[in-house]
Amino acid sequence: MQKFEVTNTNLEEAEMTRTALEQMREAGLQPIEGELKKTEEDGKMIEEVNQLLGIIAERFHIEIIPIEPDSIHFLPAKIFEDYTGHEIRGLYYVKTGCILLNDDLLRNKSERVDILIHESLHMLSHHKFLARDDNEIIAYRGGYEIEPTHKEYDRLEGLNEMVVVQLERILMSIYADKFGKEYNFTEEDFSRIERGGIYGDLLSSMIKKIADQKGENYATVADRFLKGHFTGEMLHLKDIEKVYGPRSLRILAMLDDGHDPNPEMITLREMVLGYFREEDALRREKMTEGIFNQFDRWLQSARKETEEPH
Ligand SMILES: [Zn+2]
Repeated sequence: MQKFEVTNTNLEEAEMTRTALEQMREAGLQPIEGELKKTEEDGKMIEEVNQLLGIIAERFHIEIIPIEPDSIHFLPAKIFEDYTGHEIRGLYYVKTGCILLNDDLLRNKSERVDILIHESLHMLSHHKFLARDDNEIIAYRGGYEIEPTHKEYDRLEGLNEMVVVQLERILMSIYADKFGKEYNFTEEDFSRIERGGIYGDLLSSMIKKIADQKGENYATVADRFLKGHFTGEMLHLKDIEKVYGPRSLRILAMLDDGHDPNPEMITLREMVLGYFREEDALRREKMTEGIFNQFDRWLQSARKETEEPH
């Protein structure tokens, strides 16, 4: 079972939350109805991914518990979509601590490994849980992402996703070097590995600017950002404000993980990306008010969405 913290200050509450989560995670290891039996090749793939995660553990001097094969569930598309409500390739459930993969959408070997690495990285992120007054348990922290205790919006979800994608690209390129030949990776497979996520090179350009300003190596700053995903350390995020301005971290925190189809969020994303692309501090400062207004517009429309019955 992966490690997690419980932040309730009342000891009794903390203990109850921990027990409840352990039970949920135990349930997450049980097969889902209609789940596909793992092939020998899938078993080997999980072992290979655990090997790669071992490289990360060594590089950052952290302990990583190998992913348990039982916490990974391969489902046929129909069952996956009924179960999750999404037509996507895979996802990680934070409370039950399990990964669901859409088998029909993952026939290509490199995509299959890639999504497994991606979701495993979410699984291994630093986790903090909290039971609210109404007894609902929330994942207060997952990597860099902060879920507010009451309905609002997930902060730093976009940064969290960028860090995961960066780690995924590092691990995928090692995987391709080691096993690409064995699994007949094509040119297309190799070039896909190079591609960034929806936010492109925003993370690396932030890291580069911070490194320049502090007179540090790119790799030193990058390691701090990547390691924080596993340890929960966040103090280094203050460096973002030193480079981009006092409100820049709040602006970065508005970015979602790139999956919200809400038109107000699409506009907001563009504005935030434009802000971080802008080199001129004065022009950046002038953009902030518009971004905060757009953020309010998105928040209002997101609230309306949750009020509508589904
Ligand atoms: Zn993700």
